[in-house]
Amino acid sequence: MATEVANKKVVLKRYIERGETPTESIMELVTAEAITLKVPEASPPAVLVKNLYLSCDPYGRFIMSRPEEGIKITSAPPNSPVRGYGVAKVVDSTHPDFKAGDYLWGITFWEEYSLITPTEFNFKINHTDVPLSYYAGLLGMPGLTAYVGFHEISSPKKGELVFVSAASGAVGQLVGQFAKLMGCYVVGSAGSDEKVNLLKNKLGFDNAFNYKKESDLGAALKRYFPEGIDIYFDNVGGAMLDAVLCNMRLGGRVTVCGMISQYNLKALEGVHNLLSIIGNCVRVQGFTVGQYLHLYRDFEEKVVNYVKEGKITYLEDVAEGLEAAPAAFVGLFEGKNIGKKLVVVAREQ
Ligand code: NDP
Repeated sequence: MATEVANKKVVLKRYIERGETPTESIMELVTAEAITLKVPEASPPAVLVKNLYLSCDPYGRFIMSRPEEGIKITSAPPNSPVRGYGVAKVVDSTHPDFKAGDYLWGITFWEEYSLITPTEFNFKINHTDVPLSYYAGLLGMPGLTAYVGFHEISSPKKGELVFVSAASGAVGQLVGQFAKLMGCYVVGSAGSDEKVNLLKNKLGFDNAFNYKKESDLGAALKRYFPEGIDIYFDNVGGAMLDAVLCNMRLGGRVTVCGMISQYNLKALEGVHNLLSIIGNCVRVQGFTVGQYLHLYRDFEEKVVNYVKEGKITYLEDVAEGLEAAPAAFVGLFEGKNIGKKLVVVAREQ
């Protein structure tokens, strides 16, 4: 007979409203619910998984928000467990792509066990000889984002001058290192001296600065890029994007990955320096990682090799236990994370 166990979960109590900064109080740890560790007979092909690592991602704010026109991320209804990326072990499966004992990464829920109907966003983990937690970041969604955002969207060339914002975070730290592996000059911005130090002395960036200490972002950029910027990998939007636009080189590319500085604002800040993209023939292009999932297996092989060859340094910021998840998520918007923020639900490898 299938085992029934208590299933702790983090539930969204209510939507985050526009203009509201996420706080822990919008989520609640529920401990009383039970789950049977077997895919129900009437269910469509599904997997029952034990969640191991959960990824904290800024886009989670949109999952927790009231559905809004123009935002293409589906909200999770209040009173349901928070949805997000994670790494899990398959306990039972009726899905042809997965069997009990497999590890997978992809969309799951903030609870100990989840019943998942796999989508194109769930991948079997092929390499279990690297830390499984890497599939919540480096080898998962943020890693693929950095990879396609840099190699597919930014059209990089050896020797080009690259600027990355939120550079010590999940995506930024990898963009900088992919750019270095290609022979680019790379500068990152981050929100503390500790992060700046890590960028320069651990993650291999050529230089870095603390944007919170700069009264004039344009002047700071001129200091690090006297000849201008070829590629700006934008994770933050807002004032930094505006300052960058006046510092681009002829034929430069602005890759718009994220705009975290805008996510909690009621009315988004305007961008004022768009005129400069004409004279400098700058290409500004947004993207979502979901459009590039077909590249995942190639990416996985390449980056697993980088890890094994010691070509990538990867910073994780680990919170212990499901109960730590709300604070871990909220901390992203205060810059509390140093590296990829993830939550350990259970350790098993
Ligand atoms: P991070 O790990 O970088 O965490 C977020 C960081 O953003 C914080 O640590 C903080 O760093 C910085 N930050 C927070 N608030 C502000 C603010 N008001 N102004 C400037 N910086 C701020 O997150 P990720 O690497 O996971 O994500 C980076 C960006 O990429 C986000 O915008 C995210 O939405 C986007 N993204 C886009 C995807 C896509 O498909 N297009 C996929 C995945 C992510 P600091 O201390 O340096 O300020």
